[in-house]
Amino acid sequence: RAAIETAWPGIELLVLPADPAGRLPAEALERVDFAYFSGDVYPDYSRSFFAAAQGAPNLRWLHTFNAGVDNPVFRRFLDRGVVLSTSSGSTAQPIAQSVIGGMLLLARPFLRWAAAQRRRAWEPVPASEAPADLAGQRMTVVGLGAIGTEVARLARAFGLAVTGVRRSPRREDDPVERVEPPGRLEELARETDWLVLACPLTEETRGLVSERVLRALPRGAYVLNVARGEVVDEAALIAALRDGHLGGAYLDVFATEPLPPESPLWELPNVVISPHNSAVAAGNERRATEGYFLPNLARMRRGERLVNEVR
Ligand code: NDP
Repeated sequence: RAAIETAWPGIELLVLPADPAGRLPAEALERVDFAYFSGDVYPDYSRSFFAAAQGAPNLRWLHTFNAGVDNPVFRRFLDRGVVLSTSSGSTAQPIAQSVIGGMLLLARPFLRWAAAQRRRAWEPVPASEAPADLAGQRMTVVGLGAIGTEVARLARAFGLAVTGVRRSPRREDDPVERVEPPGRLEELARETDWLVLACPLTEETRGLVSERVLRALPRGAYVLNVARGEVVDEAALIAALRDGHLGGAYLDVFATEPLPPESPLWELPNVVISPHNSAVAAGNERRATEGYFLPNLARMRRGERLVNEVR
């Protein structure tokens, strides 16, 4: 509250409870000019918030805790002329750490050790089955933004050679060897041991990782997806994992969420699953509020362009 007062002295503040069972009456937001949504997009309470905000006659700006705004609920605000900004960046560190954690689980024999541990079995991995050295392997990061850049930075510390994929050209401080356009993905896949997906879901990226791209990866390569399930052809991914073309995957996002109990992904060996939860970390809300919402509130007051404004 005090920080909001500092960013915009005298602003009137309405704090809505984050009551997951609650329903928000449409009138609640009638006088609101700006809204900061710091919840989760999917629960019922959020749906009632978005419905009320949709109808708020004075709403001019919506700032959201989310980084990805592919959910159609956000498009409706943009279509109405409401300025939309995100907190993209606030969860980049924990997500990148989850990606690296997934990589290490798959690259080192943790899954095998853990299975033996549960049987109280002392089963060293023999030298004849030693995993490949991680240092010197090649990673391709599709979507070299807040998350992808942090993944690349950490991966390089493990000695991987990292290529970034995005539409805009290389910047001096990009922690990658090179930046290539998405049109070259299939070609790049041929020399990729670790394919990391960290791009937004857009018309261009839906199905970007097609069966052709998956099959272009060398045998034994890995897919790590923290972007959106629809970026990958999930049926082709399952087939490539099943027939051993892929060595494994770390998946946080799926074509259908929650991942249905009948999905074969649950039981495939060498698949590590997190329930769209790779970002979970105690500091996220503070990072989103202090790093993005409050600075944007001050910018809004000064009539300046917002950070992370969605166009
Ligand atoms: P950023 O906006 O910082 O980065 C997105 C990157 O993707 C940019 O480098 C952008 O570069 C690139 N990009 C856009 N279009 C394409 C394309 N067609 N092909 C290749 N690259 C492309 O976003 P974040 O890093 O914060 O988040 C990325 C995505 O991760 C989010 O949109 C969301 O879907 C997902 N996410 C998932 C979370 C989870 O819990 N698993 C949590 C947070 C985000 P350019 O424009 O130059 O192409």
